[in-house]
Amino acid sequence: MSSWLEQLAELYEMPVRDLLTRNLGLVDLWVPDDLDYDPPQAMLAALAERTGVDLAQLKAMTWVGWQPWLFDMLPVPAQAAQTVFDTYVRDNSALLAPDEAGANNVAPRGKRWRGPWFPYWPPHRACPLCATDSERGRALVWRLPLMTGCVEHGCRLEDATEVTLSVTLGRQGPGPVPSEGPLATVDRYTYEALTTGRVALPGRSVHAGVWFRLLRGLLDEVSLALTTRSAHGRATLERIWQATGRAERAGLNTWRPYEHLKPEIQEAMLHAAGTALHLAADGVIVPRGRLASALRPPPHRHVYDGDQPSPHRNAWQEAVTQLEAALRLARTDRGFARQLLHFLTRGCRTLDRFEVERVFLSGAGVPAEFLPSARELGREDLT
Ligand SMILES: [Zn+2]
Repeated sequence: MSSWLEQLAELYEMPVRDLLTRNLGLVDLWVPDDLDYDPPQAMLAALAERTGVDLAQLKAMTWVGWQPWLFDMLPVPAQAAQTVFDTYVRDNSALLAPDEAGANNVAPRGKRWRGPWFPYWPPHRACPLCATDSERGRALVWRLPLMTGCVEHGCRLEDATEVTLSVTLGRQGPGPVPSEGPLATVDRYTYEALTTGRVALPGRSVHAGVWFRLLRGLLDEVSLALTTRSAHGRATLERIWQATGRAERAGLNTWRPYEHLKPEIQEAMLHAAGTALHLAADGVIVPRGRLASALRPPPHRHVYDGDQPSPHRNAWQEAVTQLEAALRLARTDRGFARQLLHFLTRGCRTLDRFEVERVFLSGAGVPAEFLPSARELGREDLT
């Protein structure tokens, strides 16, 4: 939003604040310092009317517009921080067995945790190649420690001030450095999530909301002290850090949430998370977390060739028709969506299987907020 508004204001040769108040006919508008977080509804409505850009598209240019996929809730009240952390990060294990990560205070020494992905030291980055094209702006996610590169140009993001100086003053600036290896893999998946709403992982396709939680869970797991894990957990984490060629936990001595780490340590954690994805896909490590099945290719299964198709509608076709009708209803009816999830997961014995069904419904267009977790459905029996 801020980047797009800067481009618009430049066209009219006026400050962004004037564009938003006098030009939109909103002289009394309160203009927040951070236009990307949760700008006033009146401003969005006026912008939609004047520019012809769809309101939903304008919302997607702001952080609040990315609920509930990228964030559970915004802002996160101080008293809810621990719950949000435990739900978003610790309930979505990838490598370690469920609950093996244990419990950590998300705000040690009282340092406020603002929610997943909101960094203590906000990065201000730009793509050196995007910056040379006046039609392109800065992407919203570049403000978060979620990506290290521009996927469209395949290069690393650099300090925005230096990039701007090199473009406007022709100064020697940071040139495009190719983005490669595990960091490029993470970026590619995240970009797929942001642009298509789904990510094709080696094990299965997951909803964007699942990907962001899986990645955040991975970043947490690689940051944990190795000594307090099970033998399998410790060996897995050791193997990952060895493969990165970096010091274990990027030299971290005391655990802190990812958002509170220095930018260079965050990048090392992203590198380790990407490395874990490579190793799991190649079968070098065996993930045991709730979302583990997404990381490894499914085992080969012999598929029955099938019988000759019958000219009459069979039970399967009937079932498909019924399921399609059920999905249509579940997309708009919260109570029915809950019942359908309950029905589809009756036979599930593991949380992993439960999650597969939940992701299926979410991928079929049932709003995620209609789909309770296993715990909320009272399925304490799942392992
Ligand atoms: Zn670029």
